Amino acid sequence: NLPLAQLDPEIAAVLKDELGRQRDTLEMIASENFAPRAVLEAQGSVLTNKYAEGYPGRRYYGGCEYVDVAENLAIERVKALFGAEYANVQPHSGAQANAAALAAMITPGEKILGLSLAHGGHLTHGMKLNFSGKLYQVAAYQVDPETFRVDMDKLREQAIVEKPQVIIAGWSAYPRHLDFAAFRSIADEVGALLWTDMAHFAGLVAAGLHPSPVPYSDVVTSTVHKTLAGPRSGVILAKQEWAKKINSAVFPGQQGGPLMHVIAAKAVAFKVAGGAEFKERQGRVLEGAKILAERLNADDVAQAGVSVLTGGTDVHLVLVDLRNSELDGQQAEDLLHSVGITVNRNAVPFDPRPPMVTSGLRIGTPALATRGFGAAEFTEVADIIATALKNGTASDAQALRARVSKLTADFPLYPGQEEW
Ligand code: PLP
Repeated sequence: NLPLAQLDPEIAAVLKDELGRQRDTLEMIASENFAPRAVLEAQGSVLTNKYAEGYPGRRYYGGCEYVDVAENLAIERVKALFGAEYANVQPHSGAQANAAALAAMITPGEKILGLSLAHGGHLTHGMKLNFSGKLYQVAAYQVDPETFRVDMDKLREQAIVEKPQVIIAGWSAYPRHLDFAAFRSIADEVGALLWTDMAHFAGLVAAGLHPSPVPYSDVVTSTVHKTLAGPRSGVILAKQEWAKKINSAVFPGQQGGPLMHVIAAKAVAFKVAGGAEFKERQGRVLEGAKILAERLNADDVAQAGVSVLTGGTDVHLVLVDLRNSELDGQQAEDLLHSVGITVNRNAVPFDPRPPMVTSGLRIGTPALATRGFGAAEFTEVADIIATALKNGTASDAQALRARVSKLTADFPLYPGQEEW
């Protein structure tokens, strides 16, 4: 029963170094967040020892009386949070939630219509090397080349021609609200099911600061670790009529034993997401993204060929367009890394540069809002990023790094926690 530091000093060092990295840099990867201490505690608990194939009250293993309590709490909390009739909290990840959702809705060989990966969709929405592209026929829609938004009239025309069995609303890199009512009406018109993948914006929906896809969709999937700030994992919501098919698609369809420690941590995260602090925090997420978009759209930045896709944002992220900049996505990511800001390069729609390089950045505010940032701090971060991108070199990197360090020192992450 040795502690980690004694049993495995090499892995203990990884944890220590990673905690230090998270503390000393500004995390702006749009899909990341900082799970609260209570979530980490539940996730790093003895529940990891328990096998619980099946569902609460109907397990294939004995001794499930306590883990059943955790799973029922997670189910009831997430249903209440999103106003859903049914929830399955067992998917190990967002991708597995999506695989199960599709398996429940259609059979291999049938057709899905989702946002193209190159235009902000996710791998699981029909990318050819992913299970979704291998098992199903795929038609993809794109954003409009002028507005960079999903054009619902064009989507309707495409859906009429393609006749998909499932239409997918949802994205990994798109800065605007989707019109879920219009998606519903197109799906109804062509006799398709509507699946919304709200992995990115679920936290905003939970806070009531983003339109909810739940009333309009047959099935809704999400990750729990992005704006929702819970443990790395997935969840499926649906109308009650889908319960049997989805339960069976998750287990035994996709998975064996559920991760009960993660399910307990999901329950904790859903409790947090139902509270006033979470809602206030999501407000800062949106405010920060708007501040960032405005700064990166300013004249001094535009002169360096840098702009913001769609001119702004409705959500927790900003897509930076570097097509006219001397910096490509890789160079811009590296430059920001050198000043202590972590972002990811991201292809912009119609990107002339290859996918490993790209002409864009995706910059998100959820993790910094969790850290406590408000308007003043986001204004400072936005200016640091704007200065780095417009100068395009590391010449002022030291000065910018010092400004980053001031922010990280002023907003300590996991204060009082010596080690993990
Ligand atoms: N769906 C969307 C829209 C995503 O952005 C992601 C993750 O990036 C996923 C699903 C997959 O989640 P996971 O990485 O947990 O498999």
